[in-house]
Amino acid sequence: MDNTLKSIIDNQKDYFNSKKTIDINFRIALLKNLKKEIELNEKDIENALNVDLGKSSGESYLTEIAFVYFEIKIALKNIKKWVKRKPVRSSLLNFPSSDYIIAEPYGNTLHISPWNYPFQLAIAPLIGAVAAGNTVLLKPSEYSVNTSAILNKILSKVFDDGFVKVVQGGPEIASEILKFKWDYIFFTGSVNVGKIVAKEAAKNLTPVTLELGGKNPCVIDKTASLKVTAKRIVWGKFTNCGQTCIAPDFLIVDNKIKSKLIIELKNQIIKTYGEKPIESVEYGRIISEKHIKYLSSLIENQKILYGGNIDIDKKYFQPTLVELDNLDSKLMQNEIFGPILPIIGYDDFNEVDEFIKKYSHPLALYIFTKNIAFGRKFLESYPFGGGAINDTVIHIANDRLPFGGIGQSGMGKYHGESTFKTFSHFKPYLSKPLWIDPPLRYPPFKNKINFLKKLLKLIQ
Ligand code: NAD
Repeated sequence: MDNTLKSIIDNQKDYFNSKKTIDINFRIALLKNLKKEIELNEKDIENALNVDLGKSSGESYLTEIAFVYFEIKIALKNIKKWVKRKPVRSSLLNFPSSDYIIAEPYGNTLHISPWNYPFQLAIAPLIGAVAAGNTVLLKPSEYSVNTSAILNKILSKVFDDGFVKVVQGGPEIASEILKFKWDYIFFTGSVNVGKIVAKEAAKNLTPVTLELGGKNPCVIDKTASLKVTAKRIVWGKFTNCGQTCIAPDFLIVDNKIKSKLIIELKNQIIKTYGEKPIESVEYGRIISEKHIKYLSSLIENQKILYGGNIDIDKKYFQPTLVELDNLDSKLMQNEIFGPILPIIGYDDFNEVDEFIKKYSHPLALYIFTKNIAFGRKFLESYPFGGGAINDTVIHIANDRLPFGGIGQSGMGKYHGESTFKTFSHFKPYLSKPLWIDPPLRYPPFKNKINFLKKLLKLIQ
């Protein structure tokens, strides 16, 4: 076992055991410092995101930095309320007693984050973990190296290594870290690696949050307003070059409006990124050569309706629309996670059910329709992480909507108070006086069982 890692982790254990993180004012001060340090480094964060993923500064601010400021603001505003010991009604059986629930930190937490929103997805869980009083060891992605470096710079300035520490590296180092005993593991990434994490966590019965991916269906019925539908789909799909876990993965469209929608989608792509997205500052890049080669292989021999141009050296992949006749295409075998949007038509809405069930328990599900009651009925009849009627991706912007997957797309929820809850054990206890001790619960029961039964029936 790696000695450097061991000493980092031992240090975090000692830090947690010293109870420094229990002080709420200390947590608040550090979260405020974190915000200040991010503000000081805003330009460098944007630059790093630009080098790693070609993100424009506007996109970086909106989807990564502002998101994190908001999470800090919510934590600072509510932390004192969240940590307060909460009295709950006692049970008659315990009379007399005072009953409470208190949020306590799990302890030493491990966070493993991905490359697609490398700043936001590393910092947002950390805010809740710190607010709840846990230490954090963060292993960011080995692909977004520039953002990982700035994360390290900011976090090591704000926190003692015992409280928060960044350890950089790829799967080898992540595997080493997973061998240690953690009190909580928060993982964001692919389904395959999520399974490895869950297996390692199970060895120590460590609770986990798994924020995973999957194929997110997006249904468009014949009543949908096509211009605004196209606008919201193009935005959700091609922001960050399709490398968004809750982006619509594929469209299921009523054949009556399919060709009209395709025209609107093309118009909207051009309106957003121009005729040559390669020249647009607003259009991002694919994270690595390996990923772009994989994406290119997906569109070989496909019916491309629009796009398809690729420049591997520039890590450029044009927004691409593909028409599909069935689900056998290689595009429909795994999550695409890139700027390729397959479009499948349906004649009868009953066919949609088959498509949704095939990719069951997605991270997100979307429907565009003018019939809101129908949209609600649709969303309420399938299991999925989170979703929207007449929009894509944007449910992420409400901290009161817990964010996370179900089944194949993960387990656990976060954002806003949910993050604090994720990193807290809600510990119940009761307190009894010694001066009274009703004899009912103590054997022998012979002469009191009838009375006890009556009493229990009364309160059941
Ligand atoms: P990934 O699973 O390849 O890597 C994620 C992290 O796990 C990285 O830090 C990586 O170094 C680490 N890792 C890799 N192999 C490991 C191993 N054997 N043991 C332990 N850790 C290991 O995912 P990615 O390519 O970085 O991200 C893309 C995936 O993440 C997509 O599937 C996407 O849908 C998903 N994702 C989900 C969310 C969400 O909130 N649900 C958000 C972003 C991305």
